[in-house]
Amino acid sequence: MSTCTKCDEEAVITREYEGRSLCEKHFSIDINKKIKRTIRKHNLVESGDTIAVGLSGGKDSAVMLEQLVEIFGERPDVEIVAIAVHEGIDPYRDESIGAAEELCEQLDVRLEVGRYEDYYDLKMDDVADTGELGNCTYCGIIRRDLLNKLSREVDANKLAIGHNLDDEAQAIMMNHLKGNMQKLARMGAMSDSDTHEMFVPRIKPLLDVREKEIALYSRLHDLGVIDRCPHVQEGSLRPMVKSFLNKLEAQMPGTKNKIVSHGRDLSDIVDESIDWENNVDEIQECERCGEPCSNDVCRKCQLLEDIRSD
Ligand SMILES: [Zn+2]
Ligand SMILES: [Zn+2]
Repeated sequence: MSTCTKCDEEAVITREYEGRSLCEKHFSIDINKKIKRTIRKHNLVESGDTIAVGLSGGKDSAVMLEQLVEIFGERPDVEIVAIAVHEGIDPYRDESIGAAEELCEQLDVRLEVGRYEDYYDLKMDDVADTGELGNCTYCGIIRRDLLNKLSREVDANKLAIGHNLDDEAQAIMMNHLKGNMQKLARMGAMSDSDTHEMFVPRIKPLLDVREKEIALYSRLHDLGVIDRCPHVQEGSLRPMVKSFLNKLEAQMPGTKNKIVSHGRDLSDIVDESIDWENNVDEIQECERCGEPCSNDVCRKCQLLEDIRSD
């Protein structure tokens, strides 16, 4: 193993994409700096904010919470509250909720847990493999709804999600492949806050950090548990895009960074060229649950009806 570019210690990582190696201490400092830079550059956190941090029990969200507490923990004008969703997947979710509780206790952060069972009267274990759409699609739509609800319940004005550089590169590629211009235009470190007052804007503090480096950081600092849901199905688009990007990156270091930075430029151009006023469905309230959506009945309520009628 090589030595750290900044000191004489043994390196824990060699970054092909920037041609340097870092020891544990300098790597950890660098991760913290990267996250601070992302937050500052996009103005993700402001004085007076209450930030709900979505915890999955996995490494990304655990690192995100630890870092947000390190950066803002001493600030009296910024509050951090953790929220977690129990989808009713046993014992996988019980374990990760346990890990989330432990982490919050260590970091002295309040944790609110919302269960699918309590909010929608269903468990993912009971409905998995029954729908026409993939399990992750069902679960993702419901989880998104519940995270938004929980954020409002803890009076948060922002919701931090553990979306990393790899996730962003994959999402950009997928929007290209699907030709989804509106979604492409809305990508970035912070979601639009002006779409509807009931949508809590989402921020992505880990946006410039690679998945592998978050995994390394989480190992070095003993954060997060393995996050592998038993209901994941093979053959969906995202895993294919993910492995394609990993192959490209191995051959051409820096590819993921380029996709994300070009994606941001493109997103701005697309954003300007869309006639949002006339082309986009107006956000209204779902007639069943009252959550904001662009149809009479929101996607989540449509899914819940499909599930229940089976
Ligand atoms: Zn060093
Ligand atoms: Zn609804």
